[in-house]
Amino acid sequence: MLVFKFGGASVKDAAGIINLSKVVEKYKHEKLLIVVSAMGKTTNALERLTKAYVNQSDGIQLIYNEIKEYHYAILSELFDHSHPVFDDVENTFVEIDWMIEDEPHDDYDFIYDQIVSIGELVSTRIINAYLNQVGLTSKWLDVRGYIHTDNTYREGIVEWQKTCTHIEQELPALLEKNIIVTQGFLGGTSENFTTTLGREGSDYTAAIFASCLKAESVTTWKDVPGILNADPKLFTDTVKFDRLSYTEAIEMTYYGAAVIHPKTIKPLQNAHIPLLVKPFNDPDAAGTIISETGLHQYEKPVIIVKQNQVLVSVSAKDYSFITEDHLSAVFTLFAKYHVKINVMQVSALSISVCFDYREGKFEKLLQALSQDFNHKYNSELTLITLRHYKADELRNLTGDRKVLLEQTSRNTAQVVLK
Ligand code: ASP
Ligand code: MG
Repeated sequence: MLVFKFGGASVKDAAGIINLSKVVEKYKHEKLLIVVSAMGKTTNALERLTKAYVNQSDGIQLIYNEIKEYHYAILSELFDHSHPVFDDVENTFVEIDWMIEDEPHDDYDFIYDQIVSIGELVSTRIINAYLNQVGLTSKWLDVRGYIHTDNTYREGIVEWQKTCTHIEQELPALLEKNIIVTQGFLGGTSENFTTTLGREGSDYTAAIFASCLKAESVTTWKDVPGILNADPKLFTDTVKFDRLSYTEAIEMTYYGAAVIHPKTIKPLQNAHIPLLVKPFNDPDAAGTIISETGLHQYEKPVIIVKQNQVLVSVSAKDYSFITEDHLSAVFTLFAKYHVKINVMQVSALSISVCFDYREGKFEKLLQALSQDFNHKYNSELTLITLRHYKADELRNLTGDRKVLLEQTSRNTAQVVLK
């Protein structure tokens, strides 16, 4: 069996959905499970809606109407107005109506997941209905009943054993008869609340299903020819990799390459399942294959750019040397607030840590740090990571920008820039 994943960009409009159906058509004789993200920039819009609701600001209705209108316009292009999918979509949106009528609950992350998850619930309704309309018999599956997570909202931790047992028990029989269309990015708790697996988490969903079902491969269909050495929006002369090893892909995602969600590769590697990254507008192209065997030589360095970074320098209140006890106390707080460290450096008097800025979390972390430490920080920074680099390539890249932190090893160089 095969697992396909279509991201938001591939299903951003009616043409994208029609294209998806053409790709699926080519594989209709295979057992196929399709994981889909929210359409286009819906997740971002739902994030704005969540914020507006929590702050009880006037913009709520406007944002909400835009989201609905966007989906209804696509529906109208694909279906006759009497099609039952209109009601299915309406009923899915009703969950938001109920939510925003009430006063916001004080757990932001919980609210976020209940609202933001609607994007995937709606996109899969539409896509499933369209596949059936064009004669590709598929079944809509509510992923929240299969991907079981704990209740860490916005970053649900998957309970693998329970998840796999459930998937193995029920899905093979369904796949005999139908294509399955399900939501990426979502999970469910034991109390039936919705969780999300972290932004761009649909790849991870695909990997979970593939690993539990021992799929032949996972294909993620994207708007790029495969995995490139750098983001083509930021760099010219990018090159596509024909193949990459699991390890290189893990390293790339660890440093922030946005092409694949960081948690995706490991389960596939453990189960020896290749991951194909292919262009959705040229389904016969080879794309990039990620498997055991990678490249020996890199023609160009892998360049990974992460924006919106914060660099915090922490020092002891009595200006004493940094000791292991200080390190331990600082890292305990990072762990407690689930802040992932992107790069760090320790000097005699301070610990400098660079991480992604995340509103809310950042303020809480700073407050906790300030109980026992002095700190200062810079925000809106850029972190650039180069893999398989040559020294001049690093200099060319930083140019005139101010370097706040630099770290190099044989294979990898990292710089934090203003
Ligand atoms: N729709 C979610 C997001 O945009 C999940 C995904 O696209 O993988 O983050
Ligand atoms: Mg997305």
